Amino acid sequence: MGELIAVLFRGLIFLFLFLMVRSLARSVLDGFRSAGSASHTSRPPVLTGGELKKDPVCGTYVSPAVSITRKDKGETVYFCSPECRDRYLGR
Ligand SMILES: [Zn+2]
Repeated sequence: MGELIAVLFRGLIFLFLFLMVRSLARSVLDGFRSAGSASHTSRPPVLTGGELKKDPVCGTYVSPAVSITRKDKGETVYFCSPECRDRYLGR
């Protein structure tokens, strides 16, 4: 009789653990899902605000506020990075 109770008790513990693991796994999966969708919806465009200038080297549109500029033949040229500016200058 004592053995039967022990078996039942063990069964209950297994059931409890199973439910715990399942709910934990589900909450972790939900966390991943909401984090994934959040990053899709809340990610701002890389470059925003004002008039965008085209980087002549790589074709990226950059905001003058954050771009690297270079005067070339009286015209201001905008670059996304020092690498692009250097490539434009032929270095
Ligand atoms: Zn560039």
